[in-house]
Amino acid sequence: MGAIVWPALLKHAAEVTFRDMTSTTSAERSLPSSDAAPRLRSVEGIHRSTGFHWVGNGFHVSTYFPSAKLPSERVSPFVLMDYGPPKEFSPLARGKRGVGWHPHRGFETVTLAWEGSVAHRDNAGHSGVIGPGDAQWMTAGAGIFHEEYHEEGLTRRGGRMHMMQLWVNLPRKHKAAPPAYQGLEARHFPGVDLPGGTVRVIAGEYGAARSPARTFTPITMLDVRLRAGGELPVTLPASYNALAVVAKGRVSAGDAEATTGELVLFANDGDRLSLTAREDSHVIVLSGEPIREPIVQYGPFVMNTVQEIEQAIEDVNRGKFGPVPE
Ligand code: MN
Repeated sequence: MGAIVWPALLKHAAEVTFRDMTSTTSAERSLPSSDAAPRLRSVEGIHRSTGFHWVGNGFHVSTYFPSAKLPSERVSPFVLMDYGPPKEFSPLARGKRGVGWHPHRGFETVTLAWEGSVAHRDNAGHSGVIGPGDAQWMTAGAGIFHEEYHEEGLTRRGGRMHMMQLWVNLPRKHKAAPPAYQGLEARHFPGVDLPGGTVRVIAGEYGAARSPARTFTPITMLDVRLRAGGELPVTLPASYNALAVVAKGRVSAGDAEATTGELVLFANDGDRLSLTAREDSHVIVLSGEPIREPIVQYGPFVMNTVQEIEQAIEDVNRGKFGPVPE
């Protein structure tokens, strides 16, 4: 996803570079020395979406980041988060809802669905339907074209869509990785029962449970349901960025509280975090080792330099991302 706007590239890309490179420098945060006992992370901030927009005509999402309040160094290795809370779509007799063929390079798209189904196709020969509980992990790497639409049955019948798309950055040495596709179905994800809820391990591990998702850098993604009063403890290296999105309900972390639609950003000041549900809640926990490299994002490309963005555009225009299927 992410609309392509070609004009005014150099000016725009240069601005992005300046901002992101500046903030990357400030990312060199010192970490507390390790204590004997695991230290609980504090909450750095609670963030709310700043508005909604349409991706194509199918995905009504809020882009939580990148944003000035959630700069790249605080959310790396994630680059972008588009969240589409549950939305009802009326039946459509003909046509499609979604976004047509567009390129990506330099990162991975991870699409999660809780309600509704997203049909995907790319020009590396992969296709699949991301249904409730599924996740699709697409490595754009060196370059790919793909299309993302509501699954046809959903389009005709109408129904609810509840989804999230994350852009996961690739470090410089893996930006040219061959395009790849992991279609992970709900049944592939291990579940862990807590005293007060359940955890589905979408990436990384939780306790003894390990996700089958392959990642280039260490990433943890947990899809968590908590009953009122239930607690989620997570152990993570303090250097990993960590955030939680409240899809439904109300949770607290220390003195901070977040409700439906809010994002909790944890400080990098401890090696465990804890969330307690104040009511029945659905929370997505995202964490990973930051990639400490300059980021230049322009439209559908995430690279290290402006020159690499120019190269990506040139390569698309010269057909180096391969042909687009009929
Ligand atoms: Mn896309």
